[in-house]
Amino acid sequence: MNVKNNIILAMDLMDLKEAEIVCESINEYIDTIKIGYPLTLAEGLSTIGFFKDNFDYKVICDYKVADIPATNEKIANQTFDAGADAIICHGFVGPDSVDACKISAEEHDKDVFLLTEMSHPGAVKFLQKDADDIAKMGVEMGITNYVAPSTRLDRLSEIRDIVGKESFIISPGVGTQGGDPKETLKYSNALIIGRSIYNAEDPKGATKDIIDSIQ
Ligand code: C5P
Repeated sequence: MNVKNNIILAMDLMDLKEAEIVCESINEYIDTIKIGYPLTLAEGLSTIGFFKDNFDYKVICDYKVADIPATNEKIANQTFDAGADAIICHGFVGPDSVDACKISAEEHDKDVFLLTEMSHPGAVKFLQKDADDIAKMGVEMGITNYVAPSTRLDRLSEIRDIVGKESFIISPGVGTQGGDPKETLKYSNALIIGRSIYNAEDPKGATKDIIDSIQ
């Protein structure tokens, strides 16, 4: 996936009109957006089509799919049928569940991202100890897209070593959660940034500042 300026906007505002205003103000810098449950549950699955039709964005759906294979398949099919370019699924549920998302992505000629380790402090308690194995499982399954945290660069670097330099890693946690944009891009292909942009008084200026800081 090609991501303009290596920045994916994490759009977690829960009002589509407000989201549209932010997108309009930073449109020249961004061509890829990540939406998750906050906006989808507030405004519906049609938000995917809204961003595609109005902004021509690539839309990554962060639904952190983590169910049995049969249910994962239904979730992924609905997401891709609504126009998503990619879906994020959890890895801790095991290869059969991940495979259901992967197969759905392949059938729709779209992408699946495998979530290895999360970026928040609580991820250390359970998920971190299995994150390397989740990444190894992804490699064995032929997955080439991963999510790994910008908040723990040692872990990000380790996950990069596991998935290899040809894999595509996107990293949340930059800005509000403490991750550094430039350092993160030493290991990651694109930054996922939400609140530091959409909550900024001047989202356009905030986005430009981040872009300047990584050049
Ligand atoms: O606002 P902020 O920049 O912290 O947003 C980060 C986004 O990335 C949120 O949408 C959050 O749900 C998501 N995310 C994360 N850590 C992960 C996976 C996704 O913060 N490991």
